[in-house]
Amino acid sequence: MLSDMQLDAQEIKKRIDLVEYICSLGIDLKPVGAGEEYRGFCPFHEEAEPSFHVNRKKGLWHCFGCDVGGDVISFVMKWSGVEFQKALLILADAGIKKQGGILEAAANYWHACLPSSTSARRYLERRGIGTSKLTERYRIGFAPGGTKTRDKLFSSGFTLDEIKAAGLVNRRGLDAFFGRVTFPLAEDEEVINVYGRSLSNRYRHMYLPGRRDVIFNIENVAGEVAILTESIIDALSLVALGVGNAVSSMTVNLTAHQVETLTKRFARIVVAFDGDAAGREGARSVRALLQGKGAEARLVDLPDGTDVNSLLMDKEGPLVARKLIEEER
Ligand SMILES: [Zn+2]
Repeated sequence: MLSDMQLDAQEIKKRIDLVEYICSLGIDLKPVGAGEEYRGFCPFHEEAEPSFHVNRKKGLWHCFGCDVGGDVISFVMKWSGVEFQKALLILADAGIKKQGGILEAAANYWHACLPSSTSARRYLERRGIGTSKLTERYRIGFAPGGTKTRDKLFSSGFTLDEIKAAGLVNRRGLDAFFGRVTFPLAEDEEVINVYGRSLSNRYRHMYLPGRRDVIFNIENVAGEVAILTESIIDALSLVALGVGNAVSSMTVNLTAHQVETLTKRFARIVVAFDGDAAGREGARSVRALLQGKGAEARLVDLPDGTDVNSLLMDKEGPLVARKLIEEER
């Protein structure tokens, strides 16, 4: 039986690319030949010729000058002058950052794919959120079909295990998000998830596994009042009409974290959920939760079968936007 600490160590070693990690500390490594061997100047002793070797595949390093070496954990112990347990903590942290890194990389790749998808751009235009100002600012993207995302991330240095662990590959080995318009969800400037809006009724909308209980667009709102919408599309279509304080919970069933995020940041929240039973019931319970935390909450009752986006896309759109803003006062 392996102890918890040994399991942690194994997991961490699997997750961290030794070459990438060492380079991230500012130490230059150059490939030797075509293999997985890298070489650079030893960070632990002064030398004129590089004798510090790293093998990416084996995850091992060795300096022929001072004759020390080991794995990523022993590297951190020596580099930071810490004990084994502390080195594990440092590496667990780096691993989490890298996890953010893969979503960041995927979001950037999808964003770069958007101009080449006519159907995605048409979809965004139909929703009133297709201007390049919006797609750039919110890094909206499009995930192409097949295995393009997987291949791209693989060539960027992410392992297949990492790509699978992030939920970017489905059970058939294809890109999980294919054919979807993508909206990265960030918290504290880190992409923590991505919303994929399917362009076809055959496929469902989806998120990546893991946390997604953020408030979309909260980082861009300046004042003390917010308009809370059910979907990202709703919030963005308000932003497109100049209503910059629109945010979205992406659900009518807010988590405690989302309620807290809202009430810590805003004194008053106008809830504009969909005009259906789920939206109305959700809005009432959100109002109670927000008021319970000391915030002022108002509900906007939308006509049956409508949502903020469909109302705004109507010729009455600007009127509806004005009405929502009036609710804020
Ligand atoms: Zn050395």
